[in-house]
Amino acid sequence: MAVQWRRLPAAALLLAAALSCASPPAEGEGVTSPRAGGAGVASPRAGGEGVASPRAGGAGAGASPGDRTVVVLTFDDGLAGQLTAAAMLRRHGLPATFFVSSAKLGLPGRLTRAQVRALAADGHEIGGHTLSHARLDTLTPARQRTEICADRRALAGLAPAPVTLAYPYGRADAATARLARECGYVAARGSGGLTPAAPRAATGLFDVPTMPAVVETTTAAALRSYVTAAERHGGVVTLVFHDVCSSCGEYSVAPDVLDDFLGWLAARRPYGTRVRTFAEAVRAGR
Ligand SMILES: [Zn+2]
Repeated sequence: MAVQWRRLPAAALLLAAALSCASPPAEGEGVTSPRAGGAGVASPRAGGEGVASPRAGGAGAGASPGDRTVVVLTFDDGLAGQLTAAAMLRRHGLPATFFVSSAKLGLPGRLTRAQVRALAADGHEIGGHTLSHARLDTLTPARQRTEICADRRALAGLAPAPVTLAYPYGRADAATARLARECGYVAARGSGGLTPAAPRAATGLFDVPTMPAVVETTTAAALRSYVTAAERHGGVVTLVFHDVCSSCGEYSVAPDVLDDFLGWLAARRPYGTRVRTFAEAVRAGR
């Protein structure tokens, strides 16, 4: 079941993680979400484990049958609307990664600490997104370290210690990856610039690129196209969501769109497509 994260050809490494935080969310400053890789967090899954599935076509590019294409669903900023997604994920048997800014938990519109614990107990990964959703490239290394390390420590009190991080707004500087590693992370999601037609390889585990963030106008058909484009080559597709609600802001997805997509995605197993947490995808590629 190892998807060769690093060994797949560039075209296979379509990391369609929407740039969740590439641009500041409309709702103001603080939408953030960390991604963390709860180690070994068992994930909810629709069906039995490990069934190799027929492929849609094409060569396997080194990945094992059944895990030829891995889809990573990430939800940024610890928004209360994401509980709607959690209910859908449970119904469809899919795991996800929630990137949470710990200092914002419990604020209006945000998840509570108890809700984060419940998400982890459901098998989802809780990842780091800095304490305050800081734009790290504007901070001194010392401030960055506090934002990254203290956030990770706080989240470790709620869930398995996070192993993956999402940079708020996708921004990092030359010091950030080293600091993240020193804080205990094994990988981080950047953002930006990918399209299904122009995938590129990750340049490193601390610079995982993404597709444009899912926004209010993103259709279920567009989401499906990110996956089917990746299925042509195999590899990892990371999608980034923020709020889950109807007509509630640029960085949101309507519940019916998300549910439509998740139902379709859960049925892609016959095509060799599996949904994994970000940490699971990273580990499988090592
Ligand atoms: Zn964010």
